[in-house]
Amino acid sequence: MTADLRRALPAVGSLLELEGVRCLLATAPHDLVADAVRSVVDQARRTAILVPGDDAAWVRAIETALEQRQRSTLRRVINATGVVLHTNLGRAPLAGAALDAIRAVAQGYSTLEYDVATGGRGSRHAHCTALLTELTGAEDALVVNNCAAALVLALNTFCDGRDAVISRGELVEIGGSFRVPEIMARSGARLVEVGTTNRTHADDYRRARSERTGAIVSVHRSNFTLEGFVASVPLRELAPIAAEAGVPLLYDFGSGLLLDLSPWGLTGEPTARDTVKAGASLVMMSGDKLLGGPQAGIIVGNAELIDAMRRNPLARALRVDKLTLAALDATLRLYRDPARAVTAIPALMMLTTPATALEERAARLVAALLLQDVPPRVARVARTDATVGGGAFPGARIPSAAISLEVESPEKLEAALRGGTVPVVGRIAEGKVLLDLRAVTPELDDALVSIVATALS
Ligand SMILES: *Cc1c(COP(=O)(O)O)cnc(C)c1O
Repeated sequence: MTADLRRALPAVGSLLELEGVRCLLATAPHDLVADAVRSVVDQARRTAILVPGDDAAWVRAIETALEQRQRSTLRRVINATGVVLHTNLGRAPLAGAALDAIRAVAQGYSTLEYDVATGGRGSRHAHCTALLTELTGAEDALVVNNCAAALVLALNTFCDGRDAVISRGELVEIGGSFRVPEIMARSGARLVEVGTTNRTHADDYRRARSERTGAIVSVHRSNFTLEGFVASVPLRELAPIAAEAGVPLLYDFGSGLLLDLSPWGLTGEPTARDTVKAGASLVMMSGDKLLGGPQAGIIVGNAELIDAMRRNPLARALRVDKLTLAALDATLRLYRDPARAVTAIPALMMLTTPATALEERAARLVAALLLQDVPPRVARVARTDATVGGGAFPGARIPSAAISLEVESPEKLEAALRGGTVPVVGRIAEGKVLLDLRAVTPELDDALVSIVATALS
């Protein structure tokens, strides 16, 4: 831009006088609008795309800048990645019953720590406990902020200044900067590694035992598979070793699966009940993975051990709020009728929907796009593989269906889909943008069609 043009850029004050900008002042605070105006002028100075005089273009640019400022950073997106429990996109969507429960409890006051029978103080820890013991077969339960917190609390309670014995094959990174050895060290435990990366035997654990042992720790291989010359010691063999040593067997289970999903082709993952039965003293899991509830760390197991954890001052720092408890309680309640759980809990519904149903939906969506003048060579149905995500069923590929979009620049289209008011997150494969329907609930279909049609036009 020439120095003359730069000098000719409109002043912030005069832009604020434009009719279109004055309208914006009716809907947003003056300072915010002024800030948007200033940013547009700055941008014009750098890019020279806006020229003095074209008032309509300035108003449009100011509107867009204002909209960006008014947007929350935490927004809804449509997950078309084909990864159901996508950690970056918020893991499990909540069931309707859970949303209702949050609303009911959050709108006013609640029995969070109040006993209506006695009129006295109640315990926050009383909520969800009965449901969790009923659904897992454990003696007692405790809910904290997330599974990482559950592990910290357990290790700090039983291994502070003592040995936590763990296989070298389980010193893993779970993702999101969660590394088992680092978490263990922070909780005060002395890490005692046994076995090798690929093979650990019962005798390795027996040999590591001493009067300093605080617990035996086992971590579920939730986000990777190990194949070939491998050996690990299952819970049911670890349980007697821990019992002989007189220490608890802590199991970091992660996934939180409460229902056997093998009828839907998802095999190889134990349920929480299986792990309790196998002899883990305490089982720790996430609320927002395969359980399909809110972010939470659930600990089930031996009543005395749970009680010791409850009395640890750290439990106060890691405690959950009423919104989480409300949502978790409502989600767990749905499990009392397993047939209902797989349809009412979105994560389970998404994981168990037959691929043929998704293909039919994809065909309907492609037809709707053609009606919006998208050329047939651009939009097609594609067969894809979806995954569970969230560190569960690591090897599983779930047959799925996607809308496949073939355009000159897939990168630009992918970015345009992400850039709208409701971002659509897909993926690029073999030069095409794929919008996988496995994690898109059908009520979003109309919105998806209109967002895609807009992005393509
Ligand atoms: C996911 C996972 C965790 C961490 O759970 P958060 O609820 O995200 O803290 C811990 N351990 C295992 C085995 C996991 O799969």
